[in-house]
Amino acid sequence: MQGKIILICDLLVKYGGVAPKMAEEAHSQVIDQVVQEALDKAYMTEKDLTAVAVSIGPGLSLCLREKFLLSVTHSSVHVLHNAVGVQKARRIAGGFNLPIIGIHHMEAHALVARLIEKDLQFPFMALLISGGHNLLILARDLGQYIQLGTTIDDAIGEAYDKSAKWLGLDLSRSGGPAIEELAREGNAKSVNFSIPMRQHKDCNFSYAGLKTQVRLAIESKKIDAKIPISSASYEDRLSRADIAASFQRIAVLHLEERCERAIEWALKMEPSIKHLVVSGGVASNQYVRARLDTVVKKNGLQLVCPPPWLCTDNGVMVAWTGIEHFRVGRYDPPPPAEDPEDYQYDIRPRWPLGEEYAEGRSEARSVRTARIHPSLTSLIQASLQQ
Ligand code: ATP
Ligand code: FE
Repeated sequence: MQGKIILICDLLVKYGGVAPKMAEEAHSQVIDQVVQEALDKAYMTEKDLTAVAVSIGPGLSLCLREKFLLSVTHSSVHVLHNAVGVQKARRIAGGFNLPIIGIHHMEAHALVARLIEKDLQFPFMALLISGGHNLLILARDLGQYIQLGTTIDDAIGEAYDKSAKWLGLDLSRSGGPAIEELAREGNAKSVNFSIPMRQHKDCNFSYAGLKTQVRLAIESKKIDAKIPISSASYEDRLSRADIAASFQRIAVLHLEERCERAIEWALKMEPSIKHLVVSGGVASNQYVRARLDTVVKKNGLQLVCPPPWLCTDNGVMVAWTGIEHFRVGRYDPPPPAEDPEDYQYDIRPRWPLGEEYAEGRSEARSVRTARIHPSLTSLIQASLQQ
C-alpha cells in the first residue's frame, strides 16, 4: 500500500472528563477542521480518495473513553465510531460519490498486524487486549472469526487504569504506561495476588477480582492516592512499585495461561496456524510482549505485535481494514449527499466479531444477549450465501 498516515488527533486530552453531550458538541465543532488538516498533511483533497472507512462499533456510541481519531491514507479516511464521526464519513462519501465501509473496531485492532507483517496470512490467532476488550480469536479468513475467549467482567486495560489511579500515578498517558514504568522499580513477587479463573478450563478472562485485590492491598499499605507518586517518600514509592509489579505479573500470567490453552484449541481446528497477533492498547507493554513471546515460541508459533502506536487506538487500523474489505468488494454504495435530519446512524454498541467456540462457552459468564447485534462473521457469511 502506498498510503501515508497523516494525522491522529486525540481529543480526549482536550475534552476528557466532560459530559457526553459536551463531548459530542466538541467533536462536531472540530471534525471539519481535523479532516481538513489530515487531508492537507497528505497533500490530498477528498477527490483523491477511493473510499471512506468508518468504525461503527462495538462500543457506546458516545462514551467518555472514546477518542476521536482520524487518518487518511491514499485510499480511505477513517473516523472513530461515534455519531459525529459516522455522519462526517457519510457526508464525505456522499458528497464525493465514494463507497463507504463500516468497520468493526476490534477487527481493525487485529488486522493492522497484516499491514506491518506482510507474511501474516490467514488462518492466524489474535489476542486483543484493550480498555474494553479481552478477546482471543481464531481468524480463519477475512471477516471469518471464531471467538475462543472473552472477558466475563472487566478487560485488562481497565484493571491497569484503575490500579494506576488508586496508586496515585500520572494518568496523562493513561494508566497502562504508568504501571509498566513503575513496575520496573518493584518486586513482582512481593504481594501475593491470585491468578484469576484457574478452576475454569476455558479461555475466558476475568479482571474484576484482581482489581479488588489491588484495591485491598493499597488500603492495607495505607497508600494515599491523593499524594501523587512524584511527591511520595522513598518507602511509599517502593510499596506502590511492589503493588504495580505484582499486579502486572499476575495480570499477564492470566493472559499467558489462557493463550496457552487457546493455541491448543486453535491448532485442533487449523493445524496450519503460524502466528499469534497481540494487539490493542495493552499490547504496547514491553513486559506483556516479552512474556507472550515466550509462550508463543514454546508452542512453535510466532508472535506478531504491531508497533505501540498502532496497538492503541489509531486511525490507520480502521483505514487499513477498510482497504482489506474494499479489495474483496465488501463495501456499501455511496450514501446520499445529505442524510435526512432524522436519519438513524448504524452504530453497533454490542457487536461480536464471531460466534463463540462451543468448547469455550463459560458457565462463569452470564451472557446478556439483549440488543446484541449479529456478529460480523455471521453477517458476512449470510452475504456470501446470497
Ligand atoms: P477497546 O478497543 O476495547 O474499545 P480502547 O479503544 O479504549 O478500548 P485502546 O486504545 O486499544 O482501548 O487501549 C487503551 C488501553 O490500553 C488503556 O486501558 C491503557 O491503559 C492501555 N495501555 C496503553 N499502553 C499500555 C501499556 N504500556 N501497558 C499496559 N496497558 C496499556
Ligand atoms: Fe481500541
